[in-house]
Amino acid sequence: MAMIVAGIGTSHVPSIGAVVDSGRQNTPEWKPLFDAYEPVRTWLSDERKVDAVIVIYNDHACDFSFSKYPTFAVGAASEYAIADEGFGVRPLPPVKGDLDLSAHICRHLVYEEEFDITICKEMAVEHGLLVPMDLCFPQQGEWPVKVIPVQVNVLQHPIPTALRCFKLGAALRRAVESYDRDVNVAVMGTGGMSHQLHGERFGHLNSDFDNWFLDKIESDPQAICGMTHFDLMEQAGAEAVELIMWLTMRGAMTPDAQRIHRNYYAPMTTGMGLITMQDAA
Ligand code: FE
Repeated sequence: MAMIVAGIGTSHVPSIGAVVDSGRQNTPEWKPLFDAYEPVRTWLSDERKVDAVIVIYNDHACDFSFSKYPTFAVGAASEYAIADEGFGVRPLPPVKGDLDLSAHICRHLVYEEEFDITICKEMAVEHGLLVPMDLCFPQQGEWPVKVIPVQVNVLQHPIPTALRCFKLGAALRRAVESYDRDVNVAVMGTGGMSHQLHGERFGHLNSDFDNWFLDKIESDPQAICGMTHFDLMEQAGAEAVELIMWLTMRGAMTPDAQRIHRNYYAPMTTGMGLITMQDAA
């Protein structure tokens, strides 16, 4: 039977992709960030032995557009192309999918959970998915795990509530646990912590909020589920509403799941947070 062996919450910013591609991970400004992920990578590969990862991320008007933005879109393909985000296609191999597991998850969400997702037989993935992969499951000619992309609309309102994202996580857990192949699955929720990239509050960072969020995602996720989009944007900046995707990861873990790693690094325009968890049992 498939099981969820790890939960990961992490920020994403496009500049990390450029740093990886140019081998600048050990420069003084980036080393503290990359060093925090080193024990995470070892834990995921050697201890948790992850085979596949469900990545809950948002497309940034790259593969989808404002003419059609699905609330929840699940990839159901054996391979996902690398998207061009406007600065050329990154030199990465296509992301490997697990078509059979994806198809099972899609059927389970629609038939058993009343999540009427958009099912994507083709998807091009961009930094929202690729940067967390660079940090946690880096490729060396090929990616070490298969990926089930779950794209969430956090750009074009109305966007799903924090609570709805949490419930999606619980539904994903039941989907995984009803899959009859032995697969060790990680669930990763990704989105920038505090940041705002436009308007009068450009560069807004709220480290106190980000650290409060890291506390609550571990011990009291319901406190975050009760927040409105406006609450999140007012405190942490407009784009910090991406944080609702971390709740999908948390909803996929048991209430008493234990934190394994935690990091926060914020010398730039986006709070870079990291948390990993595993079920207590
Ligand atoms: Fe983002």
